[in-house]
Amino acid sequence: MDVATGEMPIIRKTPRPGLPAPNLADYAEACAGFTWQAARAVLDGLPGGGLNIAHEAVSRHATGRRGDHPALHWIGKDGTRRDYSYRDLEAASNRFANVLGTLGVGAGDVVFLLLGRVPELYIAMLGALKARAVVCPLFSAFGPEPIATRIGIGKGRVLVTTGALYRRKVAPIRAGLPSLHHVLVLDEAAPDTWSFPALMSGASDRFTIPPTDAQDPALLHFTSGTTGRPKGAIHVHEAVVTHHATGFYALDLHPDDRFWCTADPGWVTGTSYGVIAPLTHGVTNIVVEAEFDAPTWYGILEAERVSVWYTAPTAIRMMMKLGAEVARARDLSALRFMASVGEPLNPEAVLWGVAAFGQPFHDNWWQTETGGIMIANYAALDVKPGSMGRPLPGIEAAIVERRGDGEVVPVTAPMQGGELALKAGWPSMMRDYLGEEARYRKCFAGEWYLTGDLAMRDADGYYWFVGRADDVIKSSGHLIGPFEVESALLEHPAVAEAAVIGKPDPMAGEIVKAFVALKPGYEAGEPLRRELLGHARKRLGAAVAPKEIDFRANLPKTRSGKIMRRLLKAREMGLPEGDISTLESDER
Ligand code: ATP
Ligand code: MG
Repeated sequence: MDVATGEMPIIRKTPRPGLPAPNLADYAEACAGFTWQAARAVLDGLPGGGLNIAHEAVSRHATGRRGDHPALHWIGKDGTRRDYSYRDLEAASNRFANVLGTLGVGAGDVVFLLLGRVPELYIAMLGALKARAVVCPLFSAFGPEPIATRIGIGKGRVLVTTGALYRRKVAPIRAGLPSLHHVLVLDEAAPDTWSFPALMSGASDRFTIPPTDAQDPALLHFTSGTTGRPKGAIHVHEAVVTHHATGFYALDLHPDDRFWCTADPGWVTGTSYGVIAPLTHGVTNIVVEAEFDAPTWYGILEAERVSVWYTAPTAIRMMMKLGAEVARARDLSALRFMASVGEPLNPEAVLWGVAAFGQPFHDNWWQTETGGIMIANYAALDVKPGSMGRPLPGIEAAIVERRGDGEVVPVTAPMQGGELALKAGWPSMMRDYLGEEARYRKCFAGEWYLTGDLAMRDADGYYWFVGRADDVIKSSGHLIGPFEVESALLEHPAVAEAAVIGKPDPMAGEIVKAFVALKPGYEAGEPLRRELLGHARKRLGAAVAPKEIDFRANLPKTRSGKIMRRLLKAREMGLPEGDISTLESDER
């Protein structure tokens, strides 16, 4: 079966009594009536006409009626809980903005955050944005090399970190980072560093955000490094308009929501939707310090009465391994909306959502470069499992073909594969790849931003992910998208995860090769291999089905949870592994 031919049942949406009406009820109407000016007008803006992310996220609530509403509900690894109201967050982030001022740090200076998901990360981010510094949160699990490269590229002036991280990862590389003037340490004294608590307690909790232009740089985010060396994308304060609008339409945020985004702020999702969008909406943002563990996550969904949950396919597939009964045994009656991003969400996983939670996962698509959700499935709209959904109001998407002469031509026929492109100009569009202007310019052709992903659009306007341009397989004249093959394999009860690559072949050009990780209770071996090959051939036809299948205990992934197909391919071909700074789990 082709995932996109509609053989998968469409999940029809009907009004759900007792629940608030979805923010987007009529898609066509929402798109027709949408303008970015109106989306910006919903926000406050600064006196004098500027726009600052932190003002929209915190100050405007702190000084209004929502001042005492819980803004952050933090759950530590040891079960400790800390709560911050919008007023608390305002005071703490004001202190940090003043700390930066006393250090002589201000507009345009880059502040790196190397912290686990602790409240200080959120406070420092918001405070730095108030001071008009540019914030770059890093995964705290990065080793010294990736940290040094990123601080070097970003010319980081300030780093906020913990004593342990400083000793192990930063002290050894500090001499090579001439731009790094100030290191602030949260929890212990270290030579040549400042004590974060001491600076904070000496600082005033009052601060007036200086005039901020909507086009001033605000955030630096490195891409996941799935396809190669990570790029440093710059976003501006105006991005908050997209964050807010997409929080409204795609995540369906309502004022009383208890929202949980499982992503780390070291990845763009964990900032755009783990910090900014929930706060601009004035909801309660649940922050969990611990890493993924299915029982813990179920416990949080239940005990915290999470109402909107934004997660990723890797986590969903890990939960699927344990079966739907585990979810059904919990009281998840508060959970109103579930969304997923980061990787293609296999149709099987969308349907599993219905079996386990009584509602589908809503897949949405975007990239570090787009700064916010661009294509989504919506609360009120039917879901076609395997589809990324439809463009957000205000976003014009297209499937395009690049011509030899550099021209880009839209493909209009339904279900024709091509590159996914977006009409340039939405507020959270990246403004630069730091230090790589040529690479940045190559992303644009005329009025289009080219995403590097291949997709198709069906007659109803739903978009279907095919694969990364780099990952598409050319076999005996056929173009094969890995997602389709992986989704077919995932339908087999033994398969927990699958990744597909093109393996060079003298006859076919490339053959389809699959790497498969199994669910507990299944044994890798020749009989299962033959069964999976047969299953895939039946489902996909001989031309598209894998010719080879290897079993792996785990598939190599980035820290943001993306399968690194390029690494599987390099290893298969005995080639150098390239940049593996973001590699997290590994097969070996
Ligand atoms: P790099 O650009 O360094 O190779 P990356 O593209 O993985 O890394 P991100 O910006 O974190 O870095 O990820 C964006 C990419 O993730 C998208 O271009 C797309 O390939 C993939 N992606 C995100 N969401 C989805 C989705 N819903 N369906 C399919 N793919 C998705
Ligand atoms: Mg990318």
